[in-house]
Amino acid sequence: MKTFVIVGGVAGGATAAARLRRLDETINIIIIERENYISYANCGLPYYIGETIKEWDNLFVQNKESFGKRFNIDVKINHEAMFIDRENKIIKVKDLKNNKIFDLRYDKLLLSPGAEPLKPNIPGIENKNIFTLRNPLDTLSIKNFIKSKNVKKALIVGAGFIGLEVAENLYNLGIKVSIVELSPQVMPAIDFDVAIELHQHLKSKGVEFYLNDQVIGFESKESIIGAKLLSGRKIYSDMVVLSIGVKPENKLAKDASLALGKKGGILVNEFLQTSDPDIYAVGDVIEGYNYLLEKNTVIPLAGPANKQARIAAENMLYGNNRKYKGSIGVSIAKVFDLTVATAGLTEKICKTENISYEKVLIHSSSHAGYYPGALPLTLKLIFKKENGKILGAQLVGYDGVDKRIDVISAMIQKEGTIFDLVEFEHAYAPPYSSAKDPINIAGYIAENIFNNNLKMIYIEDFIKLDRKEIFLIDVRTKEEFDIGTIEGAINIPVDDLRNCLNQVPKDKKIILFCGVGLRGYIAYRILIKHGYSEVFNLMGGYKTYQYFIQKQSNEDIFENDFIGIDDNIYQLDKSKFLKDLKNYPIYDEKNESFNINKDEFNVIAEIDACGLNCPGPILKLKKEFSKIENNGVVLIKATDPGFKKDIFAWAKLSGNTILDIKENKGVIYAKIMKGNYKSIKKDKESNIDYSNVDNSNDFKKIENKNKVIEENIVIKNDSATIIVFSNDMDKVLASFVLALGAISAGKKVTMFFTFWGLTVIRKKNKIKTKKDFMSKMFAKKLPSNLNKLKLSKMNLFGLGPLFMKIRMKQKNVDFIDNMMKEALENGVNIVACQMSMDVMGISKEELLDDVEIGGVATYMEKASESNINLFI
Ligand code: FAD
Repeated sequence: MKTFVIVGGVAGGATAAARLRRLDETINIIIIERENYISYANCGLPYYIGETIKEWDNLFVQNKESFGKRFNIDVKINHEAMFIDRENKIIKVKDLKNNKIFDLRYDKLLLSPGAEPLKPNIPGIENKNIFTLRNPLDTLSIKNFIKSKNVKKALIVGAGFIGLEVAENLYNLGIKVSIVELSPQVMPAIDFDVAIELHQHLKSKGVEFYLNDQVIGFESKESIIGAKLLSGRKIYSDMVVLSIGVKPENKLAKDASLALGKKGGILVNEFLQTSDPDIYAVGDVIEGYNYLLEKNTVIPLAGPANKQARIAAENMLYGNNRKYKGSIGVSIAKVFDLTVATAGLTEKICKTENISYEKVLIHSSSHAGYYPGALPLTLKLIFKKENGKILGAQLVGYDGVDKRIDVISAMIQKEGTIFDLVEFEHAYAPPYSSAKDPINIAGYIAENIFNNNLKMIYIEDFIKLDRKEIFLIDVRTKEEFDIGTIEGAINIPVDDLRNCLNQVPKDKKIILFCGVGLRGYIAYRILIKHGYSEVFNLMGGYKTYQYFIQKQSNEDIFENDFIGIDDNIYQLDKSKFLKDLKNYPIYDEKNESFNINKDEFNVIAEIDACGLNCPGPILKLKKEFSKIENNGVVLIKATDPGFKKDIFAWAKLSGNTILDIKENKGVIYAKIMKGNYKSIKKDKESNIDYSNVDNSNDFKKIENKNKVIEENIVIKNDSATIIVFSNDMDKVLASFVLALGAISAGKKVTMFFTFWGLTVIRKKNKIKTKKDFMSKMFAKKLPSNLNKLKLSKMNLFGLGPLFMKIRMKQKNVDFIDNMMKEALENGVNIVACQMSMDVMGISKEELLDDVEIGGVATYMEKASESNINLFI
């Protein structure tokens, strides 16, 4: 009887064994597996850690007994294959329970020992708080450690598929997660312009991650482990999970002198046969053929391992009669609420392999925008310049990523072209897709590029351009332009372009952009048909631009370069919490509502703007606001990720207030009040319950969200700070004129009143306070309130101010007190300098109610945010 021995009893090994038996009842099949388990679901291990998969037994498709019985296979678990004696066709096996070594004779041998996690040779790597995740034993170790050590913070080293899956699952257990990644992006298997969406998503989830950095050593400190990074940063945590990649487990093959490839994988031919005709190999251990690259490469994925195993089994049994075509590398992963997938070649690979390519990047929706629940979806397509053959695709989105990647993968495998994408016929009904599926749209654009009907410029090239050399046109609407645009752009909405051609120079390179690229394309065709030649449309439009120019990690939120075990990722000053809390009602996550009284905020309308791209949601909101009274509140939900930033910018520009904003599975929920919240908050304050603030995390969450969101808003020149030192009437008047001018230009204004300026913000009615001698002196000599201010020049023995008031009335200029009222109503932040109050003996009670008290630090913080700083 012939004996078939298989090393490794999981994806490749177990599949091959079952196939062999299904094909032949006469042979002897033996599986050697080092672990205590066979046929387990490695891919499910992270989800068991995070408790999405709750039952341990569900991770096992088969066990030694059931598998052995069903397929009549001798399954030797806890046995390790030690050495292959090729000459005598013997494999030496160690029984790990008793350390006894014995020989097994084989006729055919299949190697499917998989790949082992990489462990860098750096100081402290043997620390017991460091884990890798490959098999059930690792899973149990991690799970037990988390439980027994009450893990609060974990460091993930490496942000590939496994690293991010583990990060998400630990996060779901309530563990604070930090990630360190060597490359400038997470998920190095995809391109940067796709990964940038993951960065913003991770930021929105509050995951701390460091890019372009590397762990160079570990040190232990009692039960805690410290990771030293190349940047000099130190991160302390309870545990570390290393996920920096895998390498083929090639020891057996190497010792047996089987041919290995450049990456250490076993070289196999098209029949999955190694350099020894009686030994076959499959799975993560091989360097198999990639027919897009036309060379062997390592593709450590479960799908190829299973398919190879089926083919190898047949070839071992019947002789080499079935070829393995090779694999292109298709993978998918869940990264919190997003799904990211890739098939075939990326742009990065094309560059390193010198393959000429063209690319398309589109922002689309999971299904028809008018049907509820449409969510954003980004698709990047790589195709061959010469013949339009599809080389690869990447997708990121909340829904519908899996089906699109599989369709394009199938097309690549059938050597499809971009013209096939144009013609691709899909099942369409509004809940599932659009009449033009994103796959078709990518095909249309690719075809236009291929036929020279469209010249595109890519974001990475665009940002390098000298803006003086180009003429940049934002063809979106004025509303969109006002909310935010690319610096240097002029606004000619596409519908006005034909009438504005005289504004567009013929001797300059013209770059057009719109929201995502479609209107840019229409504008492109208009210009081309009117005789312009050097015209380019920005690929992915303003949306890609915004993703691209944002900070790609959130590391700069963490000011310390020492991140301790107890450091809250977004640890904020408590007094700042309390201060800012007054501007944001608390969102109650459990009840999915705000803990504000509906009557108090007068909720008027709910808008569903899901599926609409910018400026759709804003326009809907604007329309609703035009119908309602001040202080009315509108709830809006939208799926355009840009909405999160746009709404802040729009609210600032239009003087409305964002009460809260939250995101859940790609849907952004915002609660927005018409008018300025600060102006009414005083009257309403008593209705809001702040009693649980000290122990509440809710505010932190809102604060974090706003911090993350606000830091991403690209608003130019948005703040002005005015120090009012003087109490001369004319100078104070000038300062309010400037403040009101700045606020109407959409800037955030802080007026910092110090020394003599403090008298301007005193209450009109005299407040009795206890004063020492010096304070009484100051109080006597200084004007008691703003109505008593004098002019700096031409005071005319006290008549100057009166003349000035008459003149102001003649010229319709408001008096200072009206100006101050207007300034406060419009959100000017009036701050009194604590230090000068102390010096001058002025107490808080003597100042107007709307005045905030702040120190020099407050001023410095505001000043550093401002691009206009005036001293009056
Ligand atoms: P494995 O399935 O790893 O099996 C190899 C077995 O051989 C191991 O059990 C090992 O103990 C045993 N072995 C090794 N050497 C010896 C020896 N000398 N003697 C005896 N036994 C030995 N892929 C995807 O496509 N999608 C995913 O979502 C995905 N998620 C993953 C998540 C995790 C946490 C991990 C670890 C992997 C994931 N993978 C995923 C990769 C996928 O699991 C592998 O590509 C696939 O299992 C490879 O199959 P294989 O048979 O080559 O190796």
